[in-house]
Amino acid sequence: MKTIKLFTLMLAVVIMPSCEKEQVSDQPEVESVQETQDVSSQIRKKVASLNFNSKHVEKNNMLLPDGSFTENYLIEGDIVMTEDQMRTMSSTSITNKQYRTYNLVSTPRTVNVIGYTGGSQSLTNKQRTALQWTIDNYNALNLGITFTLTFGTNYSPYDIVVYQNPNGEAGGVAGFPSNGNPYKYVQIFSGMEAYSTNTNEHVITHEIGHSVGLRHTDWFSRQSCGQSGENADPDGAVHIPGTPTGYDSTSLMLACFGANEDGEFGSNDVTALNYLY
Ligand SMILES: [Zn+2]
Repeated sequence: MKTIKLFTLMLAVVIMPSCEKEQVSDQPEVESVQETQDVSSQIRKKVASLNFNSKHVEKNNMLLPDGSFTENYLIEGDIVMTEDQMRTMSSTSITNKQYRTYNLVSTPRTVNVIGYTGGSQSLTNKQRTALQWTIDNYNALNLGITFTLTFGTNYSPYDIVVYQNPNGEAGGVAGFPSNGNPYKYVQIFSGMEAYSTNTNEHVITHEIGHSVGLRHTDWFSRQSCGQSGENADPDGAVHIPGTPTGYDSTSLMLACFGANEDGEFGSNDVTALNYLY
């Protein structure tokens, strides 16, 4: 019985915002309006000028591995940015489809990753395996950035710390590179434990994709989240050569993910990463 219940539950939540809490099927419009009421029109304009989906921006109190919090904005469900970062990010510096920012990690570079193992922010065994698979995925591409992985709690000397947010939700959160460094804090939500190691691998690979500068490939429409009528202005967005300009269902960088992901890069994601790194 339990198995059947779990299976039914998994079917009911086929589409997860890559990152946010709820699936999109129940009144996403209302939800997004409520969530964004406290965001000034100035911030919203800035977000739009950077070619992000300005309907999906909210103030965010982000949990860090040590249990403290830092304030920033949450954009498109799983990308965090401070106002300062928005200011220093030029709209001409945004590229698109396998879309990316000009904020990239300087190469060649070894990116040292630590999977956090302390207290309630500790990764589960499943998440640790998924993180190992993620690192293997990136290193298999032979990019100008290579990754090392260790586990522990002393995260300050590391470039990226992957840790759990015990919020019970499905998804994760990360940000974009700055000053040639990857974004340091990659959160995986504790609700991911209900999903397969492959789906965990998908979410972690996706979030580390943001950390090294990849954007959502369907940022303009959020089609993967079941939202088709909503378009952001693509002006000023620059396309990565060799990748499609329309919706790419195979991309690991879609804004929302399904319950049964394989966790592997799509071929266009590989093209994009090879182009960037
Ligand atoms: Zn994302």
